[in-house]
Amino acid sequence: RPFTVAIVGRPNVGKSTLFNRLIGKQIAIVDDTPGVTRDRREGQGRLGPLNFLVVDTAGFEDSYDDSLEARMRQQTERAIMEADVALMVIDARAGLTPMDEAFARLLRKGSTPVILLANKCEGKAGEPGLLEAYSLGLGDPVPFSAQHGIGLSELYDALEARA
Ligand code: GDP
Ligand code: MG
Repeated sequence: RPFTVAIVGRPNVGKSTLFNRLIGKQIAIVDDTPGVTRDRREGQGRLGPLNFLVVDTAGFEDSYDDSLEARMRQQTERAIMEADVALMVIDARAGLTPMDEAFARLLRKGSTPVILLANKCEGKAGEPGLLEAYSLGLGDPVPFSAQHGIGLSELYDALEARA
């Protein structure tokens, strides 16, 4: 099995933006038909000389219902279990929410190493959220911007140390 990296976190923090950046121009393995709920996308990730399988979770923003929490928990637990490293993403501009805390609890319970990415950290708007992220108990957050490509060398170092 290839070295596997799972991207986890609540909706809208930038997981898919990060996924797309890591797979670059390669085509995602699963069906991209509009309207089809995709809970999980996999692709060949690359960061410098590192190659890995990257898994994007929670592609079900269109199916908010009372099973959302349960599905998200299940999906995240599976992704974490199968991964060598989990990338936990938070939105540093929005600050922490109860859902971020719930994801963090799930990750702290597991044994998969976690890299905490404080996304949307371009500019100053992310600074309070970055500081808040220390309270998740997942180690030092990496200031990151999936959109602007900030923090990729720190992410590389953290992944390389675990590969
Ligand atoms: P997901 O639901 O976690 O997969 O989040 P998405 O990747 O779909 O992104 C949610 C929103 O955040 C989109 O509007 C993105 O353009 C935006 N976004 C993602 N990364 C960044 C970032 O680094 N900075 C800012 N400012 N916005 C971002
Ligand atoms: Mg997404």
